[in-house]
Amino acid sequence: MPETVLKRVPERMCVGCRAMRPKKELIRVVAPAEGPVSVDRTGKLPGRGAYLCPDRTCLAAALKGKRLDRALKRTLDAATADALAQMLEVRDARSG
Ligand SMILES: [Zn+2]
Repeated sequence: MPETVLKRVPERMCVGCRAMRPKKELIRVVAPAEGPVSVDRTGKLPGRGAYLCPDRTCLAAALKGKRLDRALKRTLDAATADALAQMLEVRDARSG
């Protein structure tokens, strides 16, 4: 009798809309010990991470409520927020 292998999909919470989604559908934002906050495309960069849906609305919500700041323990300035927004748009365009 064939056995169904239930592979557990790792889920993370979007700091914007607080929905649980599979990790691979989210964008990881990482705050390294040194250097600027950036988008972690590999999911392997060291540092504190926070997850966002690839959606500007979620980024806006996360920024507005300072939830991203809290998750990363870092104050995000306007330039970083802008860069993240741009990276989200690039991803949106790619995923169609
Ligand atoms: Zn979200």
